[in-house]
Order: sequence, then C-alpha cells, then structure tokens
Amino acid sequence: QPVVGVLALQGDVREHLVSLAACDVLARPVRRPEELAECDGLVLPGGESTTMSRLLETFELLEPLRKRLADGMPAYGSCAGMILLAGQVLDGRADQQQLGAIDMVVRRNAFGRQVDSFESELDVTGIPGGPVHAVFIRAPWVESVADGVEVLARVPDIPASGDAAGRIVAVRQGSVLATSFHPELTGDERVHRLFVETVRAA
Ligand code: GLN
Repeated sequence: QPVVGVLALQGDVREHLVSLAACDVLARPVRRPEELAECDGLVLPGGESTTMSRLLETFELLEPLRKRLADGMPAYGSCAGMILLAGQVLDGRADQQQLGAIDMVVRRNAFGRQVDSFESELDVTGIPGGPVHAVFIRAPWVESVADGVEVLARVPDIPASGDAAGRIVAVRQGSVLATSFHPELTGDERVHRLFVETVRAA
C-alpha cells in the first residue's frame, strides 16, 4: 500500500486522514522532514495558508517539500493547500511562501463577503458518478493557469465571481491536483480516489 501523508501543521488534517484511509492507502500525519521522506504522496489540507506557510518554515519543511515536489512527488491541496501549491497568490500576505507546484495564479478569499462560504454541485473532469457536492469556505479561485495546467471544474456563475464562464476551482498539472473546495468534509471520497490513482501510478 502506498504511504500518503497529510501535512499536519494546521487545518483539517484528521478529515483528510479519514478520507484517505477509505481509499486503501496508509494515511499518516506529516510534521517532520523524516516523515515527509517516507511519503509516496502528500495532501495539503485546508486551513489558513499564511499560517501554514509560516509553520512550514518553523518546522523546516519548506525546502524538503519544495524538493520532493520538484522531484515529482504527487500532491493534492484543498483550499489553503491549493494556495500553497500555486506559483503566485493575489491578496496574500507579502511574506507568504509559494511552493510553485502548479503554474497558476490563485486569489485568496476570492468569492467575497456575501458568499464567504457556500456549497455547489460541480461536475469534475475525471470523477465519474455524477456531480461532486463542493463545500467552499473562504475559498480561493484560480485566476489564471499556464499551458499544461488542466482545468477540472468551474463554479457556475455566481454574482461575486463576475465571470460568466464560471471561476476555475479544480486543476491538475502532472501529478499535482488542487481544489478550492473541501471534499474531506462530505464523506465522498471520489476526489481523494482520483489523487490516490495518481499516487499509485507514480
Ligand atoms: N482563506 C484561507 C487562506 O487564505 C483558506 C480557507 C480554507 O482553507 N478553508 O488560507
């Protein structure tokens, strides 16, 4: 069984461990470089990207994680995790660190006040069996992607979004996946399964 870690510095770690365990992998929290070294793939949970960025430095995980990602380790980031994986963040903190694993620009807290948090049924490319119930909590959206980044889902237009095509909320580049929403909160493991397939294939 592959070992899939969940970055356990802050955020909803336990929910991701539960979702992963349902996908027949060895799911483990990761706080130390030695624990990261044992992982075949890593989940970066939701929470607060500025705090996680700071803790990555404090726990001396930032450079080891950058190196594993550069070497092709599969990763999946939800919400704050998506922000960390991006090459560039808008409305972030000036000293916020980016992992640069997906060549995209994300906007933090993008959906605005009226729709701070919301839920939506989304068709996600690569996920069979009907729409995914997506929970957004002060979520980012993907402002733009470079060539080579696959768009997997968009939210249908909502007033705060201001883009009739719908904002991009799920992407993949190579073996790195990211969603603006939180599939670990709904008891539907299909997004985790999609990620685990990538880990098994790597
Ligand atoms: N707004 C948070 C951030 O900027 C993300 C929210 C979440 O992960 N639910 O990091």
